[in-house]
Amino acid sequence: MSRVGKARVGLYEVSGDALQRTHKSCPKCGPGTFLAEHPDRRACGRCGYSESKGPPAAKGKKPKPA
Ligand SMILES: [Zn+2]
Repeated sequence: MSRVGKARVGLYEVSGDALQRTHKSCPKCGPGTFLAEHPDRRACGRCGYSESKGPPAAKGKKPKPA
């Protein structure tokens, strides 16, 4: 039991989790195809789908005009 390394499990968890969280799947191609990450948008290299990430929230907070 103790020979099953904790490090091994940790590695799988970290890499798998990071991949799934940073890459969103394409709504057109399905969950097997992931969108490429760009600073301001994501794009699918397969079908050409792209979506905007929206404005960066870190740059100054402006209250929305009601
Ligand atoms: Zn696609």
